[in-house]
Amino acid sequence: MNINFKELAQKYQTPYYVYDFDHITNQYEELKSAFRARKSLLAYAVKANSNLSVIKHLASLGAGADCVSIGEVKRALKVGIAPYKIIFSGVGKIDSEIKEALELGILMINVESDAELNRVEMIAKELDVVARISIRVNPNIDPKTHPYISTGLHENKFGVDIDTAKRMYIQCKNSDNLEPTGIHLHIGSQLTELQPIKESVKIVADLVKNLAAIKIELSFFDVGGGLGIVYDDEKLIDTYEYAQTILDSLFGLDITVVCEPGRFLVGNSGVFVTKVLYEKINGEKRFVIVDGAMNDLIRPSLYNAYHKIEVLNNNEEHSDCNLVGPVCESGDFFAKNVDLPKTEHNDLVAIYSAGAYCYTMASNYNTRGRVAEIAVEDGEDRLIRKRETFEDIIALEEEFIK
Ligand SMILES: *Cc1c(COP(=O)(O)O)cnc(C)c1O
Repeated sequence: MNINFKELAQKYQTPYYVYDFDHITNQYEELKSAFRARKSLLAYAVKANSNLSVIKHLASLGAGADCVSIGEVKRALKVGIAPYKIIFSGVGKIDSEIKEALELGILMINVESDAELNRVEMIAKELDVVARISIRVNPNIDPKTHPYISTGLHENKFGVDIDTAKRMYIQCKNSDNLEPTGIHLHIGSQLTELQPIKESVKIVADLVKNLAAIKIELSFFDVGGGLGIVYDDEKLIDTYEYAQTILDSLFGLDITVVCEPGRFLVGNSGVFVTKVLYEKINGEKRFVIVDGAMNDLIRPSLYNAYHKIEVLNNNEEHSDCNLVGPVCESGDFFAKNVDLPKTEHNDLVAIYSAGAYCYTMASNYNTRGRVAEIAVEDGEDRLIRKRETFEDIIALEEEFIK
């Protein structure tokens, strides 16, 4: 990554997010080529980073979209992703979202419960359309990741067990308004071990074979997302082995593989850049206070997530400190007990691996405007989202003051 953070800070102020679009291209191409032995669709998980320019960039490479709200579906359509490459997932879809998804004619709805299938059937009947259905199977496999981002165990709220799934496919087959189209699993995020994926895919592939035996033939095998990235010193799953493992389990089946990567495509493209306001010592403890905060980047507070941090100065003196923001919460930190150089007012601090689940989780807490987002591509930078102003923040309240 060859980005001049200081120049961008002068041009766009701080804090900001910057994304290296060339990195996104490389990640996409690597995964796509790992699946080249078979027809595949990489449906980008929009929730990881839903900036329109990011989605558009992936669309231009050929990506589809995995969406978890109708808003995300509309973002994908807005930048030109074809309906037949869009999937709608999520454990709690609202009636109006199901209706709109059916009217838009997207590829399939990933259904996560009996009750939801009934709702979809009812709404499809009202609209007099046929809903293409994929059922999310919960294979009850421990993905060995952080409990907040683990989704493939029965104790998690996601998907249905094998027997329920089978029953639901039979319901689809017998319905005039449902068409069994795909099968879906997604066991967790930031996965770094292949074994749980292998076991889960096997369980679901066996179900596909069982269904074929009763004349329910599915067109799409959706393995979900979850491929991990390097934040620290993680050893990653090799993408070629990942694809091979999936393709091996599908041997003999005429089915298109769908993969829904989010973090893998965008996570390491992004850097959050913030500047030092002050240093202070409370008793024995050194704090470095920056202008960015938990409302801009919540992963350390929410998951205790590690992000590599670099102070952009040449100071040789360094010591242990907490790197914190201005928000009125003790949970407002980027790192605790981290060794950083002594800083001066206005020194820049880069927080790496900030392309996924960072900006999309940002809020206006403490009436802080969400920060600017910048893209860098072919050595050129451009603004892809303006910094929010005070007027932006109050826009939906102002007219109601009595
Ligand atoms: C969040 C999510 C993804 C993407 O997960 P990553 O870990 O970012 O790859 C894919 N599919 C579904 C259904 C999801 O909920």
